[in-house]
Amino acid sequence: MARKFFVGGNWKCNGTTEEVKKIVGTLNEAEIPSEDVVEVVVSPPFVFLSLVKNLLRSEIQVAAQNCWVRKGGAFTGEVSAEMLVNLAIPWVIIGHSERRLILNESNEFVGDKVAYALSQGIKVIACVGETLEQRESGATLEVVAAQTKAIAEKISNWDNVVLAYEPVWAIGTGKVASPAQAQEVHHELRKWFSDNVSADVAGSIRIIYGGSVNGANCKELAAQPDLDGFLVGGASLKPEFVDIIKSAT
Ligand code: PEP
Repeated sequence: MARKFFVGGNWKCNGTTEEVKKIVGTLNEAEIPSEDVVEVVVSPPFVFLSLVKNLLRSEIQVAAQNCWVRKGGAFTGEVSAEMLVNLAIPWVIIGHSERRLILNESNEFVGDKVAYALSQGIKVIACVGETLEQRESGATLEVVAAQTKAIAEKISNWDNVVLAYEPVWAIGTGKVASPAQAQEVHHELRKWFSDNVSADVAGSIRIIYGGSVNGANCKELAAQPDLDGFLVGGASLKPEFVDIIKSAT
């Protein structure tokens, strides 16, 4: 089954109303490949979700950057999956390394969050990736397999999941994984799905790469056979995000 190229833009904790309107304006005016060729999703901070959804061209979808692990209620400061459904936000990013490492989100907690968001009908960009220390000690595949397994233990249907391989050492550092390094991990993750979930899921799941992707390095990465798109941080706030979207063709 052909896997449609996917490009996500993670705006993280950035932006003012004026800056957000400017980015949306750039995206609305850009010539981008059709929805049949590339699925594009941008992820503004919670407070700008409705603004972006209302102003952005309809071919580009919107994602939240997180949501609460269970039904909403007495959880001060959290945003529930039900609220995202209420705002018609179709996607959420779960398990970003900044949340895993800074906010101590465990593999199990991330697995529970993925399962709950899916149960509410929200599609998930689930992030996995190793630290520099883990890579240097040769543990990369073990780490990403354990992170993926913790999700697999909580869900049975992967149709609405995109897996983002984001090596922590490459995020926001300007140190992008080489195309060969990215391809190796993507290939191994696909093999992990084949061995542990099913050949169907291994063939259909989109595994995207994130970590210092920009307009200059995206083409070579996009050419790797097991790489189905990108999750982009810093460059998604800039006009070069359009070049990254175009790397789908
Ligand atoms: C990210 O935060 O998901 C990311 C990949 O960031 P950057 O592109 O800035 O490395």
